[in-house]
Amino acid sequence: MVKRLILTGAPGSGKGTWSKILSDTFSLPHISSGDLFRKELADDSPLGQQVRSYVEQGALVPDELTIKLVEKTLAEGPGQNGFILDGFPRTIAQALALDGILAATGVKLDAVIALDVDEAILVERALSRMICRGCGQPYNTSVTRPNQEGVCDRCGGEVVRRSDDTQETLQRRLLLYHEQTKPLADYYRDQGILVKLENNGPPDQTVQQELFQMLESTCSGA
Ligand code: ADP
Ligand code: ZN
Repeated sequence: MVKRLILTGAPGSGKGTWSKILSDTFSLPHISSGDLFRKELADDSPLGQQVRSYVEQGALVPDELTIKLVEKTLAEGPGQNGFILDGFPRTIAQALALDGILAATGVKLDAVIALDVDEAILVERALSRMICRGCGQPYNTSVTRPNQEGVCDRCGGEVVRRSDDTQETLQRRLLLYHEQTKPLADYYRDQGILVKLENNGPPDQTVQQELFQMLESTCSGA
């Protein structure tokens, strides 16, 4: 049974898109650390003010603040009976903290999906993507535009370009991904829960079946 999943990958690798598919398929709440931060920024909350410069410049928010926010979100309910965590953990320190948080409630991760995408495709995707301010649904400026310009098909929210999706910020985020986040694959491979998905194309039925099968065998083996 698929219950506690992590989606990890570079910016533009499709974490948001796959999270939505998996969240619909397995009826699990989608918890995106990037969406959580963007919400704090939009509300201009005290946390939002603290993290604004990191997010806008494409730097990582310090582990302590990030861990606290995710821990609070998991504890508030959406994480009680399973979850899809998108964009967290992004550092080994965050992964260790998450293991501790889960161990304290007697549960563990079922699988970690690492999305693998060619660098050229990552850049193209990140620079053409849009996102719903309301629900985080990803769109792009070419194939997956919303039916009505600027309006989310799912929730009616405003569909915008992300202010951190610029050429310069993206280079910084890619670098940080290689330095800090990519090593997580080894960490989870050692735990026997890593599922690697090559994600250079669209998330069509064939790729979905491939992923569901890999998940089934990983999760039942855990
Ligand atoms: P991306 O498309 O770059 O994967 P996200 O929406 O996941 O974007 O994150 C956007 C920004 O939010 C990041 O560039 C970073 O500033 C901040 N952020 C999100 N998740 C984390 C995390 N786990 N640790 C530190 N910073 C984070
Ligand atoms: Zn929406």
